[in-house]
Amino acid sequence: MTSVPTEQSVLSAVPKQLLIAGEWRDASGGATFGVEDPATGLTLCEIADATPDDARAALDAAVAAQPGWAATPPNERSEILHRAFLALGERSEELALLMTLEMGKALAESRGELAYAAEFFRWFSGEALRLDGYYKTSGNGASRVLVMRQPVGPCYFITPWNFPNAMGTRKIGPAIAAGCTMVVKPAQQTPLSMLALAKVLEECGLPPGVLNVITATSSSAVSEPIIGDPRLRKLSFTGSTEVGKKLIAQAADQVLKVSMELGGNAPFLVFADADLDAAVDGAMLAKMRNMGEACTSANRFHVHESVAEEFAAKLAARMGALAVGRGTEAGTDVGPLIDAVQRDKVAELVDDAVARGATVVTGGTKGDGAGYFYAPTVLTGVPAEAQVLNEEIFGPVAPIATFATDEEAIAAANRTEYGLVAYVFTRDLGRAFKVCEALETGMIGLNQGIVSNAGAPFGGVKQSGTGREGGNEGIAEYLETKYVAFPA
Ligand code: NAP
Repeated sequence: MTSVPTEQSVLSAVPKQLLIAGEWRDASGGATFGVEDPATGLTLCEIADATPDDARAALDAAVAAQPGWAATPPNERSEILHRAFLALGERSEELALLMTLEMGKALAESRGELAYAAEFFRWFSGEALRLDGYYKTSGNGASRVLVMRQPVGPCYFITPWNFPNAMGTRKIGPAIAAGCTMVVKPAQQTPLSMLALAKVLEECGLPPGVLNVITATSSSAVSEPIIGDPRLRKLSFTGSTEVGKKLIAQAADQVLKVSMELGGNAPFLVFADADLDAAVDGAMLAKMRNMGEACTSANRFHVHESVAEEFAAKLAARMGALAVGRGTEAGTDVGPLIDAVQRDKVAELVDDAVARGATVVTGGTKGDGAGYFYAPTVLTGVPAEAQVLNEEIFGPVAPIATFATDEEAIAAANRTEYGLVAYVFTRDLGRAFKVCEALETGMIGLNQGIVSNAGAPFGGVKQSGTGREGGNEGIAEYLETKYVAFPA
């Protein structure tokens, strides 16, 4: 597509069928389902609704392609990824528009996600060339030890709707690099970005059967036959903790290698010595990226009592100035939430906090027209028992609570079953290290409001998941270690 993309052009170009064994095909029963624009509530297009038979066919294709793909030279796998990295950059405008149409986020955010998504292909095109093993003599000199790393085998990926492209590339990138084949099932609310991504990879030379994509309205019906099949070797899931727990239980039957990127409840700590303007800049990024619909979203702000009022006033001024609207329109900062259920959940959390004594400094209102809009909101005086501090909000709401001592701040931050990310703002190096060491999270933004980076290990502890995506660690999730002993 060389001309300026339009809604019509991107919707007509995106594939609407399943990708199985290199063929775009209708669902076996011929059924389709509609993909909705959350800014209008209108249907954008109809796509194939896979059946369990289609799921089995997709796994058959991945299994058939596995030996040839594992034997493909690393240079070739690396070059496909590098071409795909470049292609995502060249096609950023059309893919961003498609993403905004199905997911709602403002176009600038969709472009940002695509740049981030592409970075996983760049990173893993390098990693494909660095797969190694080692050779040594055993301690007693009696034998030699040869250690090799081999692809895990066919993988199944389930991705969420909030980052429809990047949550795919950070699984697909390392799988391609390591020599694994795969079946991908995107979220039913945002399948178009994944279908478009699969087409890009196909055009960049990915052989048939290496990547298979199934879209479906019944995620459990298509997932169960794949997860229960002894030929599958790995399951990687990004989504809610609730669904992740069910999938871990299903994966236990085949003792699958699993990676789980689950929910979060990120604390954002502002100490009395922090640069408050930098903290507000960081808070805007940590809270408002993706309208707050991110697992890394700052979910609760714990601010030292001596600076809480000033921080709240500055944050509320910035939040209140954001333009809410359809993501495709110029000037929009904040799009709609994904659906009515999510918007109503956000409204309930705010109402609960207010009923328990919190004050609305800005926002606190639902949109009253079409689409699932909720105003950027700042709450102060939020008591510890308010639901908004204890549940993942997934919306544009910043609840602020105060603390008096470092110990109190650390205890409040860790008072959750989640452990994905935390943000810490302080200018005191000693305090920074002490707090970072004490926080029970897989990642920390220290004086910055964003941690996502293809070259760093992304992942959580506690009920936020297991495994890491990106960084030096990311490729290991797709490799098995085999050791050969032979006499010296
Ligand atoms: P979700 O409801 O768990 O859905 C995620 C994916 O799982 C979708 O593709 C969904 O398909 C599928 N799914 C749901 N039930 C399933 C089942 N029984 N068997 C197989 N697949 C099933 O989560 P979500 O609401 O889309 O995403 C938001 C959650 O993802 C939040 O909790 C967020 O924190 C988390 N998240 C985590 C990270 C991270 O890296 N830690 C990143 C982004 C998001 P359908 O679309 O058909 O329901």
